[in-house]
Amino acid sequence: MDFYEQLREELKKLEDSGLLITIRTLESAQGAWININGKKVLNMCSNNYLGLANNERLKEAAINAIKNWGVGPGAVRTIAGTMKIHEELEKKLAEFKKVEATLVVQSGFNANQAVIPTITNEEDGILSDELNHASIIDGVRLSKAKRYIWKHKDLNSLEEQLVKAQKDNCRRKLIITDGVFSMDGDIAPLPGIVELAKKYDALVMVDDAHGEGVLGENGRGIADHFNLTDEVDIEIGTLSKAFGVVGGFVAGKKVLIDYLKQQARPFLFSSSLSPAETAAALEATKTLYESNELVKKLWDNAKYFQSKLKEMGYDIGVTETPITPVMIYDEKKTKEFSSKLYEEGIFASSIVYPTVPKGKARIRVMISALHSTEDLDYALSKFEKIGKSFGVL
Ligand code: PMP
Repeated sequence: MDFYEQLREELKKLEDSGLLITIRTLESAQGAWININGKKVLNMCSNNYLGLANNERLKEAAINAIKNWGVGPGAVRTIAGTMKIHEELEKKLAEFKKVEATLVVQSGFNANQAVIPTITNEEDGILSDELNHASIIDGVRLSKAKRYIWKHKDLNSLEEQLVKAQKDNCRRKLIITDGVFSMDGDIAPLPGIVELAKKYDALVMVDDAHGEGVLGENGRGIADHFNLTDEVDIEIGTLSKAFGVVGGFVAGKKVLIDYLKQQARPFLFSSSLSPAETAAALEATKTLYESNELVKKLWDNAKYFQSKLKEMGYDIGVTETPITPVMIYDEKKTKEFSSKLYEEGIFASSIVYPTVPKGKARIRVMISALHSTEDLDYALSKFEKIGKSFGVL
């Protein structure tokens, strides 16, 4: 069997087991309603939490940046690419996050690659929650540090692993956790993690991709939510979700950011955000800085939608945030459920293995500040109808 036949066979296996991902093509901008294949559907699967992805203020900032700065950054920032707007964005993000400094890279994924292998080597130990995001897992894989995996959100398990790392005489002990777990919507036990970090002299790193724009004052994120901004050593952020644009950043002490600028490979070897992205992200940061209105709307929507689903009898797992996993468990059934929702005008993706463990398939409904109560009621009526016909309710 040649290489291409092998690939065809692998794809067929994925299809047969209900694991083949369907990628829809959008014919309109991000919004509460979008067009797919000429059909208008309610968008319930984007991470555009606050609706900023097609916001007029951000678009105008991006257009002006193109007029002033062009479309490309020229090269990696250390060689030719640092423009004044990159620095303005980093300064504003640092103010927003209440930290000394930030470093913006191309994506949240890259921000993890920029930090984890750069600040750890074979003398060190990384303590990672078992359900951490793929970009953390890959960052850990790139590091030569010893790995200590702790059970999801289990502080006893974290302590056991810290004891092991101590026995192994690790120079640095780096605890890493997602702030909000993206598939379940639960929140990391940050106060307990910080306490253990102090006890065992470890560093705390939080990937706040789904916490920014959602948790804390004006969406400052999980550290602010728990009033622990000064206790967290490294925060990872993304500009692609609540901020509505694209890009990622690292937030922390100035000396950490100075070091990353010298050593982090995604910063040194990959070009920066384009002027349009940078200016739009800056405008998003300013928007969040100025008002809590969108964050409040997001939470009002999430509470309304989730309480109605629960009343109907749906299992929405352990979520504590607007991420709403509608648990179906079986992979094939989940895919069919998602297709049925789509037929009824609702775009809500099925999430199956390997994104979540086998047998834990779900429809992941993402609530946005853009949804109106009528939109949510429309979705709820469809969930009720389809849930009954699938024997889920
Ligand atoms: N970290 C976490 C926890 C995420 O959920 C995501 C996005 N799925 C990322 C990092 C990657 O962010 P980006 O899309 O900006 O690369």
